[in-house]
Parts: sequence; C-alpha cells; structure tokens
Amino acid sequence: MAIKITDECINCGACEPECPNNAIYEGGVEWAITDGTSVKGTYVLMDGTIVEADAKNAPIATDTYFISPSKCTECQGFHEEPQCASVCPVDCCISDEMYVETVEALLEKKAKLHL
Ligand code: SF4
Ligand code: SF4
Repeated sequence: MAIKITDECINCGACEPECPNNAIYEGGVEWAITDGTSVKGTYVLMDGTIVEADAKNAPIATDTYFISPSKCTECQGFHEEPQCASVCPVDCCISDEMYVETVEALLEKKAKLHL
C-alpha cells in the first residue's frame, strides 16, 4: 500500500529527496505526475480520476509534507524498504490503509511511472 505522512511531521524535508518517484511534496505545493517520472499524456489516479500527467494538482496537505498515493510505490523496484520511513526522524511515514496494494500492483505502478 502507499505510504502516508501523518500530522506528526515536523517539516524537516529529509524525506523529499529520497523518494525515487518524486511522490513527496512540501505542504501547500502543487504536484504533478510528470515530476520525476517519464509519464506522457493522461494518467489514471488511485481514485480513478483521469488527469493530464503534467497537470498541476492541488496540494494534499498544507501544514505538513505529503505523499501523492498515485506516485508512491512503497519504493518497490528501487529499494528494500520505504526510504521516506527510513529517514524520517519522527517516524511519521506510515502505511496508508486507504490504499492497500499488492507488491505486484506496486511494481506495475512503478513500471507505468518509469517507462
Ligand atoms: S515509500 Fe518510497 S515511493 Fe513511497 S513516498 Fe516513500 S520514498 Fe516515495
Ligand atoms: S522526514 Fe518525516 S518529519 Fe521530515 S518532512 Fe519527511 S515526513 Fe516530515
């Protein structure tokens, strides 16, 4: 499943550069599928919404860093474990029960993000 950042986040910024999918953003920042990926054209988000891959989407959080579940692969295909959770000093990167995914589904998402 995707990883999410809880409101315990202290906004240290340590996780953002560690994400292989550029799925992590500072609070209040618009995010796009194309940031750090090779996607072109349209893309289906986790909630089924179809967006232009380069469209700027509304921030998911404003007061803390946040993760786009449509871009998080739990680091599958890149690392042994979620890198954000590994570096977070307050352990606020946790599994997002809203988005339960199998390893196969996460690898498929990784393949879609990085053609
Ligand atoms: S688990 Fe990996 S892919 Fe997901 S947000 Fe954290 S660093 Fe990025
Ligand atoms: S490493 Fe943890 S505390 Fe720091 S910005 Fe990321 S989620 Fe927030």
